[in-house]
Amino acid sequence: MTTLIKNGRIITATDDYHADVFIDGETVHTIGRNLPVKADKTIDAAGRWVIPGAIDPHVHMELPFGGTISSDSFETGTRAAAFGGTTTIIDFAIQYHGKTFEQTLDDWDAKAEGKCAIDYSYHLAVTEYEAKHAPEFKKVVDRGISTFKIFLAYPGVFMIDDTTMFRVMQSAGEAGGMTLVHAENGIAISQMIDNLVAAGKMAPKYHAQSRPPVMQADGVARALRVGEVARAPVFIVHVSCEAAMNEIVRSRDEGNASFGETCTQYLFLDETCYDKPNFEGAKYVFTPPLVARENIEPLWKGLKLGYLQEVSTDHCPFNFKGQKELGRGDFRKIPNGGPGVEDRLSLVYDGAMKRGFSPNKWVDLCSTASAKMFGMFPRKGTIAVGSDADIVIFNPDKQRTISAKTHHMNCDYSLFEGMEIQGAVETVLSRGKTLIESNQYLGHPGEGKFIKRGQCAVM
Ligand SMILES: [Zn+2]
Repeated sequence: MTTLIKNGRIITATDDYHADVFIDGETVHTIGRNLPVKADKTIDAAGRWVIPGAIDPHVHMELPFGGTISSDSFETGTRAAAFGGTTTIIDFAIQYHGKTFEQTLDDWDAKAEGKCAIDYSYHLAVTEYEAKHAPEFKKVVDRGISTFKIFLAYPGVFMIDDTTMFRVMQSAGEAGGMTLVHAENGIAISQMIDNLVAAGKMAPKYHAQSRPPVMQADGVARALRVGEVARAPVFIVHVSCEAAMNEIVRSRDEGNASFGETCTQYLFLDETCYDKPNFEGAKYVFTPPLVARENIEPLWKGLKLGYLQEVSTDHCPFNFKGQKELGRGDFRKIPNGGPGVEDRLSLVYDGAMKRGFSPNKWVDLCSTASAKMFGMFPRKGTIAVGSDADIVIFNPDKQRTISAKTHHMNCDYSLFEGMEIQGAVETVLSRGKTLIESNQYLGHPGEGKFIKRGQCAVM
């Protein structure tokens, strides 16, 4: 199967020019002006931008959490991702106590295999590290999982102690991997939750009050300082506030391999969402929570100046009906997470263009930076001869309104309901196959493949 994309404006993280792209099988074969080739399928991309497929490096499909399971399966979640121009996701395989690393990955393989619309990988979330696990780091990296994740939050569930934090960072680094950290002060937060509950403060907004930005900044500072002595690269996930971002900047300025991301929700929404009536504040209960509006512009500025490396979604949807409602009367029982995987590329486009970012920077934040950071570049994250033909044809002028009525995520609400944005995904190719065209899904489950990842390529 060959495909020719004609007349488009090709935009990667570094280039911007008009040319045709000829795809043979799963990869880009030739790029040039007026290519004298005949293809099985020709797509006219005149007036459109032709960009590398987006990569969402932080999602949770069908994750058991808080007594329920995130509502998008690998099948529905990856299909929704494809509609939004995302052609690769990285999920988190979470080690349950008593499991080895390899059993954990086997379990996640069994969940994802044969279901995904787009390519996928996982980070390995380590919740327990004993001597017997030490030789497993190298095996995991050899298996194509080069990133490990630890939690400094959720005591009694996922949280690890500082000994484990140090050991994981050191072992991951020695194996050629990187450690991702959910950084908060989980112990202090747990006490703050108890205090709020004792005072009868049980509404959704108290979820946010129990986890103030300073507790996140504390977790980030601690993680990065431990990473410094472990001499290992550390990546902070879902940075929601300026104070936490500043800790990353400080650490990197001191010469450490310290990196971070933020998520779409923190770039558009603020803590006033928790005041919505009829328990609707529960829709915004995720961790870290939304914070004061004063943080939004600093986060955008941080993306522009490279303080933070990319934008993910932390997609972890729960339906309002039947799932979020589990926490009526007790914010501790609201499953933590929200839907987002579908709208990221166009949301970031809208926000980035309004703030004068270059189109290249937008592509970098949504695709290229993650391909490099998480060991998939140049197979993913760019349009180049030999790269996977993961390509999005984007209409930069089209206006659309985000709504749960039209989205494809298996979730009965949208975090961005009613928001009018500019820019829309029109056609999506995954390894040469047209997956989305004229708002129709043309693929089927299982076409997405597990991608073996290598080392972080930004250092
Ligand atoms: Zn997450």
